Amino acid sequence: MKNTRQRDEISTYISDQEYIANNYVMKCFAVTMLVFTICYLLNVLGIFIIEERLMRNAYFPSVCIYVAVYIVTRFVSMSNRKMKYFILFCIIMMFTIAGVFITYHAVLVLLLPILYAVLYSSRPVIRYVYILTIFATIITVYGGYYFGLCDANMVLITVKTMRSYITDGQFILTEVNPNPVLNLMLFYIIPRCLIYFAFMVVCSSLFRVVSGSLEKARLTEELEEAKEAAERANRAKSQFLARMSHEIRTPVNSVIGMNEMILRESSEEQIKNYASDVKNSSLELLSIINEILDSSKIESGKMEIVSTNYEIGSLLNDLYNMINVKAGEKGLQLIFDIDPSIPSRYYGDDKRIKQVLINLLTNAVKYTNQGMVVLKLRCRAEGDNAVLLFSVKDTGIGIRREDMDKIFDSFLRVDVARNRNVEGTGLGMNIVQQLLKLMDSELKVQSEYEKGSEFSFELTQGIVDKKELGDFRGNLFEASKQNSYRTGYTAPEAKVLVVDDSRMNLKVFSNLLKESRIQVTEADSGKRCLELLGEHKYDLIFLDHMMPEMDGIETFRAMRSHNLSGNTPVIMLTANAIHGDRERYIEEGFDDFLSKPIMPEKLDRIILKFLPERLVRSGNETVTEQKEMKVEEIPGIDYEAGIKTCCGDRDFYLEILRDFIQLPIREELMEFYRKRDYKNYCIRVHGFKNNAYSIGARALGDLAFEMEKLTREEFSEDIEILQKNLFSQYDNICLQCRELMEK
Ligand code: ADP
Repeated sequence: MKNTRQRDEISTYISDQEYIANNYVMKCFAVTMLVFTICYLLNVLGIFIIEERLMRNAYFPSVCIYVAVYIVTRFVSMSNRKMKYFILFCIIMMFTIAGVFITYHAVLVLLLPILYAVLYSSRPVIRYVYILTIFATIITVYGGYYFGLCDANMVLITVKTMRSYITDGQFILTEVNPNPVLNLMLFYIIPRCLIYFAFMVVCSSLFRVVSGSLEKARLTEELEEAKEAAERANRAKSQFLARMSHEIRTPVNSVIGMNEMILRESSEEQIKNYASDVKNSSLELLSIINEILDSSKIESGKMEIVSTNYEIGSLLNDLYNMINVKAGEKGLQLIFDIDPSIPSRYYGDDKRIKQVLINLLTNAVKYTNQGMVVLKLRCRAEGDNAVLLFSVKDTGIGIRREDMDKIFDSFLRVDVARNRNVEGTGLGMNIVQQLLKLMDSELKVQSEYEKGSEFSFELTQGIVDKKELGDFRGNLFEASKQNSYRTGYTAPEAKVLVVDDSRMNLKVFSNLLKESRIQVTEADSGKRCLELLGEHKYDLIFLDHMMPEMDGIETFRAMRSHNLSGNTPVIMLTANAIHGDRERYIEEGFDDFLSKPIMPEKLDRIILKFLPERLVRSGNETVTEQKEMKVEEIPGIDYEAGIKTCCGDRDFYLEILRDFIQLPIREELMEFYRKRDYKNYCIRVHGFKNNAYSIGARALGDLAFEMEKLTREEFSEDIEILQKNLFSQYDNICLQCRELMEK
């Protein structure tokens, strides 16, 4: 819309300018005609010494040429490049011939149409005109000389008159100076050239003012067209990406759902380990797809900021839980330096703020190999609002000065050689920048190569509750404990209807609710859903969006218009989980929204939110029992320290412990040692040290650290001794863990 309007404006501007230019040219023509007429009259009155016969002979051909050229230039499209050059060439040819054979009147008259053509031309055409004019002037002059002319006021219409003027002309010239060549130069060639040149320059620069702006407008129009085409292509690309991401999300949904079943139901440790790897990879894949979706949504201008009331403590808590795991895996220290006196509740888009911070913190961890990552939050009051000052600082690899601007380009990754092993799409920073722009903020980056980076931004948020946030760090551990996921309820009397056209998705959904013993009824189409609602009453309905024949929204409208669902809450279930869709569904009348792939925690949260309290019983002994494992008893492992790394999430701790005991460290280190590849040996042992610290195996970690130092010095004998020691300690821990897990 905007582009079309802009283009219309440009077209109007161009036609206006052309109109002005035409008028201007026509005025010039009129003035020339006037000058001609006056000259002619003065001549008739005998003021000029030019013969009347000559005037008559010169005047009429001049006017004829004038009119002919005017007609040609007027009716031939000047936008045709070849035609333009052809007309110009003809005009200059005529000008040349006229200069030799006719009179200066015709020459001057012809110059105007030339300029008329120049008016619609580009710089190369003007240059072309200049060159032709100079050639034409020389031909005119030499031609005139050859025919004996010393003044262009002469007319050579007949051979007779030509002969007489040859004699007269030469006679006059030789009278002034005996040297005819010098005469020719001084009185003829140089003044003529200068006059023509000056005439051309003055007139064409006058016209260039108009034609310049015309040219510019035309160029802008062309650029607009090119921009529009590029934008069209980009939109097509974004739509393709969005469609593809949506298509990918659906099968990933099934993978995650089914995998969750394996994790919950399998009793074999090995299988569970595999499934946990599948889970991690699927979640990673999902986050990449989400980034692409977000990026295409931002590009197409569909990303909106939706403000609600939110607790900053809960936001920080979620962040800490999420990032601390990643930092722990790399042996990095994660510090949340939060001012306890800041207000606790704000009005703003917490989802977007969280997304920005997740991106920054994930990058900080990703691009830092040792040291720490610090999230700092301060607050400044500004009237009724608060300005939150966020900063994410790391002691990582830093960014080169010349790469600083590039980090915001979509799909572009900097320092590629160095970051070869770091996974990423190159979209994160671009999304952060765009999101902050939407929230009227801006990201500031400070970085020193090989020292670290700091990303900061300010956000103005409404204050909802001035109550101080308090000792955030003190509350963190407790809070995280509460947040760790358990299906801690049963609701055997609750009836839930789930509608989805994919059998696989229905199966995943029902399985996820198996532990809670909820009665799940499956419907594979909107039509079937309406039939079921006519026969039974449900406590909660989950409705898929994309279904053939009757989609989720149509089904929802039908059930509301026939009053089939009564007051039963209806939750929209969709893989099309672009942020901001929630509001759309809520506007439609849905009670909430659950994005696919369905995360068990989120599903349970929604169930607990919407099921009537009388149907829900708390506690689920079977699950917790199955997962209980007394790691505290394993010598060499400080359970408390390990669980702290996982922010109190016991399940997660067990998960990383399982990973730890399967590390192929022995084979890898032996191989590097055999090849005397100390560089890779050092890198591997460094990673192992971090792994050991994060599960709480402090002594093992210290030993690995010693080895890391030695390998830097390449003390091979000492390494061998320590290596034996390391393997035996590691085997010991693995053995005990396996025994406990088997039990
Ligand atoms: P990626 O998915 O590659 O991490 P991003 O858009 O998030 O993409 O970041 C773009 C580039 O900016 C990265 O490839 C990386 O080189 C650089 N970068 C971002 N954050 C940091 C950081 N904290 N320290 C060093 N380099 C960073």
